Amino acid sequence: MKKESSEYYISEIKRLKAEKNAIILAHYYQTGDIQDIADFVGDSLALSQKAASNTADIILFAGVKFMAETAKILAPEKKVLLPDMMAGCSLADSCKPEDFERFLKENPGRTVISYVNTTAEIKALSDIICTSSNAIQIVESLPEDEKIIFAPDRNLGNYVLNKTGRDIVIWNGTCHVHEEFSLEAIINLKRENPDAKIIVHPECEMPVRLVADYIGSTSALLSFTKTDPGKTYIVATEAGIIHQMKKENPQKNYIPVPPRDSTCGCSECNFMKLITVKKIYDCLSSEKPEIFLDNEILLKARKPIIRMMEISEKLGL
Ligand code: SF4
Repeated sequence: MKKESSEYYISEIKRLKAEKNAIILAHYYQTGDIQDIADFVGDSLALSQKAASNTADIILFAGVKFMAETAKILAPEKKVLLPDMMAGCSLADSCKPEDFERFLKENPGRTVISYVNTTAEIKALSDIICTSSNAIQIVESLPEDEKIIFAPDRNLGNYVLNKTGRDIVIWNGTCHVHEEFSLEAIINLKRENPDAKIIVHPECEMPVRLVADYIGSTSALLSFTKTDPGKTYIVATEAGIIHQMKKENPQKNYIPVPPRDSTCGCSECNFMKLITVKKIYDCLSSEKPEIFLDNEILLKARKPIIRMMEISEKLGL
């Protein structure tokens, strides 16, 4: 095997994982080669559940920073590594703690539900965390007259508001990937593939959600393509999920929706794609960069995440 080839890095990663009792948790939006070397691949909810229940000494997170922070919050005794600290999230960045504190003061007396795609500081200011897999159920688990703040994704917030009819004030944040899908391209793809089903993530804008045959979180979209009798899917979420869809059902066709500006390649999350196999190898060898959090923030951020996990467990999610 040639030194510094991808086979070399993959075999070294396997050796280092065993030697250091480390596991790799990878998000569905990682590239296929990374998903294939991970011990567990999932969406934010499943990855949080896995981070909280494993026997490894080291968790290497192949994803973005808020996910690695969530793993550290749930497993503070473990070493949590992120191969590239620049792997941020435009959605998490759209909600700064000082602005959010002001927003909370302007909207008092509301229960604060924050999406997992937030920094540890925002989680520490929240009452319950949710993911796109459980957002509707988390809102519905509260008494009907409870007033709610939902942050930071305005599209997911609107989707939850429409589904539940609850009194919700929504923070005005967006994800640069899901905000950019081209409705025109979806309509053209549907014209070319009339039997295809349009499957959409709830972080997409309302016009894109309105043409969907099915709306769901990343893992819900994956399950849908497994159980649905259809053969072709027009997929409006980050294109990395198509790797798992093809693995699970190779005989079906999956067409990624391009962004409005097709020159920018935004249907891929450029933060997620900062992680590479080589960076995972370097990170596991040096055990750096490591996630460190202020202990007070960690303890405050833990409560709303645990509350989400308890509600999810009770509901069998
Ligand atoms: S896809 Fe959007 S929400 Fe997810 S990590 Fe990338 S920027 Fe953040």
